[in-house]
Amino acid sequence: MLPRDRDGRILLKGVPRPQLLAWAGARGLRPGQADALWAALYRKLRSDFAVMPELDRAVRDGLAAETRLDVLRLEAVKQAADGTSKLVFQTDDGAAIESVLIPGPERATLCVSSQIGCAMNCQFCLTATMGLARNLSAAEIVDQLVLARRHFPDVWISNVVFMGMGEPLHNLDQVLPAIACMVDDQGLGLSQRRVTVSTSGLVPQIRRLVAESPAQLAVSVNATTDEIRDAIMPVNRKYPLADLFAALRELPLARRARVTLEYVLLAGVNDSLEDAERLAELVHGLPCKLNLIPWNPHPGSEFRRPEPERVAAFKAHLQARRLNTSIRTTRGDDTMAACGQLGRAPAEAPRRTRRPHGLPVIAS
Ligand code: SF4
Repeated sequence: MLPRDRDGRILLKGVPRPQLLAWAGARGLRPGQADALWAALYRKLRSDFAVMPELDRAVRDGLAAETRLDVLRLEAVKQAADGTSKLVFQTDDGAAIESVLIPGPERATLCVSSQIGCAMNCQFCLTATMGLARNLSAAEIVDQLVLARRHFPDVWISNVVFMGMGEPLHNLDQVLPAIACMVDDQGLGLSQRRVTVSTSGLVPQIRRLVAESPAQLAVSVNATTDEIRDAIMPVNRKYPLADLFAALRELPLARRARVTLEYVLLAGVNDSLEDAERLAELVHGLPCKLNLIPWNPHPGSEFRRPEPERVAAFKAHLQARRLNTSIRTTRGDDTMAACGQLGRAPAEAPRRTRRPHGLPVIAS
């Protein structure tokens, strides 16, 4: 059985190919017609059954009466000075969700959302100020890539990262089939190595992702002591650093596979050389690459981005420990499209106030 929308229409997107072909066969489509339907969805990026000459008229009319192609509407595209584009989509229930297209020299990366808002309450993140409204469906997740490819036909979107709004591992039941559609070689055709799921550190769900999906894993670490991580990432109170790293060490990673570890640098909070040294000890022996992200400011937050020299010193310390370390270039921050800036117009963001220990919380 395929999922349906609120009006009872069957959603064709977000369903992995074997299930979609089986469903089509049960409806009486010949194998060639079922393959043509899959190609129309994901290779030809069709938005209307009327422009599917590869299907018989009767088949098209039957599908048009009962099923649904697009589930999102592209509302706006805001381009930043550096070429990054924020795509704003409208859902059926009137919510706005966002993806970010980051062009590179030869290929582009699309950063997709997996939820409307987020429940994880990371203190440095603008999305967290929204709370969680709801999970996105697999169709809504896949449609971000389909509509982006349709809108940018001359851009080769070869990479997808689940680093937009939401904690993807909080919505694995929808994220897993969406990934299956993205990496299908007869459809959207992304390489498995070019789909990355980023988590704040939900340990059981990390194990499930690795067991059930070919996607790459990224983990947002962001602190080297439980005291600081508890304060800036409440998930740490349930899955503290020792448990998180023990789980990462036990993952059955493929040969030469590495976990990406992200580290958002917050001035005066987690950016000292002592932190760099503790981070090196935490990751010792783990096949990983470290991605340092100088924090992206947003109005209402009292965190600060570290000075470039401090970021460079942090990186140099890790490299001296022979760790594969890079600094993520900030892209798109003039349209609030940079990492941690998705989800709410600046004027709507609530102010964060300081707690006695100096870390900000959302004002009630
Ligand atoms: S950083 Fe990610 S997991 Fe944390 S609140 Fe923001 S969107 Fe959610």
